[in-house]
Amino acid sequence: MVHNFDVVIVGGGILGTSISYFLSHLNKLKKILVIEQAHSVAFHTSGRNTGKVHAPYLYNPEKKRLFAKTAFHGYEMWEKYSELRKLPFKKDGVIEVSLDDKGTKVLERYLKWGKQNGLEEEDIKLMDKSELKKIEPEIKCEGALYVYRDGSVDYSLLTHSLMEDSIKQGVKFLLDTKVSSIRKEKGKLKIELNGEHEIFTRFLINAAGGQAIDIAHEVGIGKNFTDVHFRGEYWKAPKEYHNLTKTSVYSVPEFPDYPFLDPHWIIRVDGSCEIGPNAVPVFSPYGYSKEENIKEFIPKVLEMLNSGARKTIFNRQFQELAINEIQSSMSKTAMIERVKRFLPRIDANRITVKGTAGIRSSVIDEDGKFVPDVILLNDERSFHILNYNSPGATGALPFSAHIVNSLNQTGLLESEDINASCGPWKFGDIVEKIKN
Ligand SMILES: Cc1cc2nc3c(=O)[nH]c(=O)nc-3n(C[C@H](O)[C@H](O)[C@H](O)COP(=O)(O)OP(=O)(O)OC[C@H]3O[C@@H](n4cnc5c(N)ncnc54)[C@H](O)[C@@H]3O)c2cc1C
Repeated sequence: MVHNFDVVIVGGGILGTSISYFLSHLNKLKKILVIEQAHSVAFHTSGRNTGKVHAPYLYNPEKKRLFAKTAFHGYEMWEKYSELRKLPFKKDGVIEVSLDDKGTKVLERYLKWGKQNGLEEEDIKLMDKSELKKIEPEIKCEGALYVYRDGSVDYSLLTHSLMEDSIKQGVKFLLDTKVSSIRKEKGKLKIELNGEHEIFTRFLINAAGGQAIDIAHEVGIGKNFTDVHFRGEYWKAPKEYHNLTKTSVYSVPEFPDYPFLDPHWIIRVDGSCEIGPNAVPVFSPYGYSKEENIKEFIPKVLEMLNSGARKTIFNRQFQELAINEIQSSMSKTAMIERVKRFLPRIDANRITVKGTAGIRSSVIDEDGKFVPDVILLNDERSFHILNYNSPGATGALPFSAHIVNSLNQTGLLESEDINASCGPWKFGDIVEKIKN
């Protein structure tokens, strides 16, 4: 194996793979490597999410401008890419419902944000309960925001396809390989793999999802941040419920500053239906099982007690919300009750099969506050993307193009041909759209 690379990307999730896609189209001569510890790309969060291409109505355009912009353009990019690669993309919309007057006020705000973030009049519509009842008779609510420009995909399939495209452009993917340490040596970074052998790179991009903080800390960056992991669990609905609604249904989150959204009624791209996700605190970014959580319990608790997370875990409101989520993990009925509030016909006894859980890692600052936006940090040899949470999969393509462009502009990682074509797009056109 070659031991010297120009760029190493840590993490073969949708983010690392999308970055490799753009970098490889813009750089024919650079040696680019993606390192992924799992046996396939998108094995963790990118392949374990709700599969929605989210319209950007949930995001305050002033506070989350980049996420809103990338989500908006992500929709048209995934649509085009799916068509090109013959992968499923369903324009199936989403309905956000309010269960009281306070919630309806929030929907009015979402309508405004959605339009500020680029949605057109025909993409999004506020409805009262009687108007919605005519379209979706099973839904019980006070008000609804019908968002037509929202879609469903399979992000695992999309990530695999981007990997194939990147490989054709010369990128190497090293699977089943964990980055175990990173050291600066003679103007390069020396990366130890699986605790056994070493490679060198001129530049490193950290897209390690739930371990992005650990990789940043490894090179002495972002020491003031820590993270907390939340497992999002799903239940599969039986066939008899598959026509309950025409569209996926979300409810207005009661505590938007915390990563606790109420579970949704989800129609996946293949037509199957699920309920979820909740957000159960766990002790590892891979804490799907009891064994993994027991193994990571002591180190994670010690880490939290010695960081800003200490304030979070002793916060009364956080504790109450976390207990609620734990209850909905231990009791199927408790979880399904949360969706029954707006879909009363669902009977928990008819639901018996669990879906695939996915884990989100939310970053906490030194004051114990959840950081609402993505965090971008760098030194002269590395660039780190932390807190890349929902709607991260939706925005992964335009966000990655934006990162590659910023690296070029700041001189951290100059690309050979910044105007190159990248599959069905001109790189410059994507970057221009995000700027405007
Ligand atoms: C329950 C849930 C539902 C969601 N639903 C949606 C949705 O409907 N729509 C949407 O747009 N977004 C959704 N999201 C968010 C979205 O899934 C994420 O923002 C996105 O997948 C993050 O991608 P990533 O590549 O950064 O992370 P990941 O997919 O986690 O990839 C990071 C990769 O890095 C690897 N890695 C880490 N450390 C190392 C190391 N040391 N060595 C080698 N490899 C390493 C990991 O194995 C992992 O595969 C959801 C998230 C969750 C948790």
